[in-house]
Amino acid sequence: MKKHIAETFMAVLLILCFWVLARQAAEVSADLNEPKSTGKVIVVDAGHGGDDPGMIGIGSLEEKGINLEIARRLKKSLEKAGYSVVMTRETDAGLYDEDSHSKKSQDMQRRIALINETEPLLTVSIHQNSYQDPSVKGPQVFYYEHSVQGEKLAKALQESLNTELSVERPRSAKANTTYYLLKRSEGVLVIAECGFLTNGEEAELLQQEAYQQKVADALTKGIINYLAMPD
Ligand SMILES: [Zn+2]
Repeated sequence: MKKHIAETFMAVLLILCFWVLARQAAEVSADLNEPKSTGKVIVVDAGHGGDDPGMIGIGSLEEKGINLEIARRLKKSLEKAGYSVVMTRETDAGLYDEDSHSKKSQDMQRRIALINETEPLLTVSIHQNSYQDPSVKGPQVFYYEHSVQGEKLAKALQESLNTELSVERPRSAKANTTYYLLKRSEGVLVIAECGFLTNGEEAELLQQEAYQQKVADALTKGIINYLAMPD
């Protein structure tokens, strides 16, 4: 009888051990299979700022201010859609120290450090374009040539901007291999050039709150479409 009890006890103990080990193994493999980003954080990067005005358009219009206005609206719009947003800047200031010998490179390095530390779902960098020919206009989204996900996101944003802003001559998203942010971001990052500050009509529109909101909403729509796509 005693032997029986001991055997039963050992069997239960063994089953318990197996159960504990199996659970631990399942947890470990779940960790390994998890994508790098599990949260719903999106980084919105307002290009330039502080000493760096970015492109100068018609009537000395500076890119940095338009970028920040659209970025702020994009943040709100994404938060409404349920995402958390990290901004690289929320004021006119750049990300450099005043006594830095190379403000521009310090600014860029800090943007990249912030983006890579945040490990977001994706990053959208907001910029405005310029060109010698003032008739050139329309939004254009850039992605890193070697990034499959970047290309998918850029195409989704480009399509949404073309549709929502009723662009007459729609452009396609464009590959790039030289932009610092595109090269150095560890995650998915695209650069959205929302319009041309050298085109009178677009420069005027980009300063209007209603149009800035339209651009932000179009970007949000594109982001949602991209995130709903299968891998
Ligand atoms: Zn720019």
